[in-house]
Amino acid sequence: MINIVLFGKPGAGKGTQAEFLKEKYNLTHLSTGDIFRFNIKNETELGKLAKTFIDKGDLVPDEVTIKMLESEVDKNQHSKGFLFDGFPRTLAQANALDEFLLSKKQSITATVALEANDEILVQRLLERGKTSGRIDDQDEEKIRNRYQEYNEKTAPLMNYYKNQDKFHAVNGIGTIQEITERLSKVIDNL
Ligand code: ADP
Repeated sequence: MINIVLFGKPGAGKGTQAEFLKEKYNLTHLSTGDIFRFNIKNETELGKLAKTFIDKGDLVPDEVTIKMLESEVDKNQHSKGFLFDGFPRTLAQANALDEFLLSKKQSITATVALEANDEILVQRLLERGKTSGRIDDQDEEKIRNRYQEYNEKTAPLMNYYKNQDKFHAVNGIGTIQEITERLSKVIDNL
């Protein structure tokens, strides 16, 4: 069983790559952003709560996010492995994930980061905002706030996984296929 964390700033292409990697390695793809958006669309209590944070570009509180993620893992008990996309995003989430997996005699196999420069990413998100319908992609100030959240809360996770010898990074600029190949090379060597 392999469990991969796909890591990277907003707009780095995690969701796009996850679509290919989940097929190739037979993994269950769990995107916390997608799960939140599904709940928002269906106007669940979780969705209503999450929306108040997401629309501003703030992270959803750890307690809510961790509980949701754990319940999604539990719904996929027969999975051959997970591809975590957009989770963990804080140290508290990373710790919770390690403990949760340990309780199932599992662990994170590796974290793979997609690297790209902020200015390119902001432009990508503004482009995406024209068609995605995502409020958090449509306003540069909200996008900048997401990068601030990333720098403050998520970037420290790089060291967290480096200390466990589980951190890998690939260049996130290139064609979709080129980037899939770079990621596959890392995963094949695990
Ligand atoms: P992006 O990577 O482009 O920001 P996501 O779909 O991964 O897009 O996330 C969208 C929003 O959902 C985030 O800005 C945040 O508000 C919320 N979110 C997603 N994952 C998490 C998480 N692990 N912890 C807290 N909030 C999250």
